[in-house]
Amino acid sequence: MEIDLSPLDLPEFAAGAVWLVGSGPGAPSLLSLLALHALKQADDIVYDALVDKRILDLARPGCRRHYAGKRGGKPSPQQPDISNRLIELARRGGRVLRLKGGDPFVFGRGGEEAQALEAAGISYRVVPGITAGVAALAAAGIPLTHRDTNSAVSFVTGYASGGGLPEDVDWEALAKGAPLLVIYMALQNLDKIARRLIAAGRGRDEPVVIVSQATLPGQRVIETTLENAAADAKRAGIEAPAVAAVGRTVRLKRAGL
Ligand code: SAH
Repeated sequence: MEIDLSPLDLPEFAAGAVWLVGSGPGAPSLLSLLALHALKQADDIVYDALVDKRILDLARPGCRRHYAGKRGGKPSPQQPDISNRLIELARRGGRVLRLKGGDPFVFGRGGEEAQALEAAGISYRVVPGITAGVAALAAAGIPLTHRDTNSAVSFVTGYASGGGLPEDVDWEALAKGAPLLVIYMALQNLDKIARRLIAAGRGRDEPVVIVSQATLPGQRVIETTLENAAADAKRAGIEAPAVAAVGRTVRLKRAGL
């Protein structure tokens, strides 16, 4: 079934422009209509490892695909190379779709790409996507906020480009001020993060959920505690991409909401 988007009066994808588009957490059904519109018009698609192949297959036939995935441990394009690629493709006159997993401006370095495009004088548009932290909890049946447990939620990355914990995150403050913590890139440093949070006063038995491949056929959800999270994730063979959520709200999953 072809969806007729014309009544929506969507913006034109001009030649020589770049659209930074979020492809959502994985399942193609969670793409926005504006993202679909972009896929149907793009001349060049520069995509990340987290973009599902079924989404790429929605692109206009004849569109050129450029892989810009980063995979830990393997040689991968550097961020400035990707930005330069976008600029070069736009200058050649293509409609350039930069497709990123989740939302382009959430832990995806989309901000750096936007800055580079701005500096190069290339016209660009940002199309939001459903970010993994939101989708993963929904997919696991856990409300991100609930009047009984949390009126705030914090998103944080557990991994810095050097491999350790990000240095500009105050884990002690988060432990005290964030009733629900949603951690992206959670697996590598989960043990360290849990220890920091416990040292700052969070309960060892506080509930944790880890969701990998949220919304995809391989989705897995494990429930554990702060103290056991890293060991349980390892034992269960959980692999990236995964988010972990820490907080009392996680228990509402068992309340069968
Ligand atoms: N811009 C993306 C995040 C990029 S960082 C977004 O908004 O979602 C990559 C991290 O996102 C992964 O390490 C993982 O923590 C998370 N992630 C992305 N897709 C995911 C998925 N389908 N299931 C679980 N976590 C996912």
